[in-house]
Amino acid sequence: PHNVVFNLHDIRPMLEQIILLAETHAIMHDVQIVTKYDADLPPVRCEENQLKQVFLNLLKNAIEAMPDGGEVHVEVEREDNVVVVRFRDHGCGIPEDRLPKLGEPFFTTKEKGTGLGLMVSYKIINSLGGKITVKSKEREGSTFEVRLPVV
Ligand code: ADP
Ligand code: MG
Repeated sequence: PHNVVFNLHDIRPMLEQIILLAETHAIMHDVQIVTKYDADLPPVRCEENQLKQVFLNLLKNAIEAMPDGGEVHVEVEREDNVVVVRFRDHGCGIPEDRLPKLGEPFFTTKEKGTGLGLMVSYKIINSLGGKITVKSKEREGSTFEVRLPVV
């Protein structure tokens, strides 16, 4: 369908729920999740369950990228008319030649991966008029940012 208008939702409680959901996964990987939220974050238009699915995908990917454990940082900031939700890990990173493959269906480097998480995430964020950006360096880590427009 087109011209779907989504309701306004606060990002922070959604992320807090997702972080709780991922807590066992984090503990099993010896990962601490460190959060930082700007004060006075504006609400964004979204379908709550879809956006939570994106957050869970990105958070799980960050955790799974750190086989030796460590910290995953989740940061939410406002930049002009955009809310930025950042997932930062110091994990295995992504080799440059593999970056274009992210979001391709069934592209996975995990034994039990589906390679669908990022594809679905890109689709959902596109449908909200936002985008996902990736910065990564092999053996140093990755930063995935979800950028959503503020109304
Ligand atoms: P899956 O998690 O099932 O493998 P995704 O679509 O979520 O599928 O991710 C696809 C691939 O992208 C992963 O298998 C991994 O190789 C790479 N990837 C995604 N996020 C990260 C990350 N934070 N650090 C390193 N590699 C990542
Ligand atoms: Mg995944």
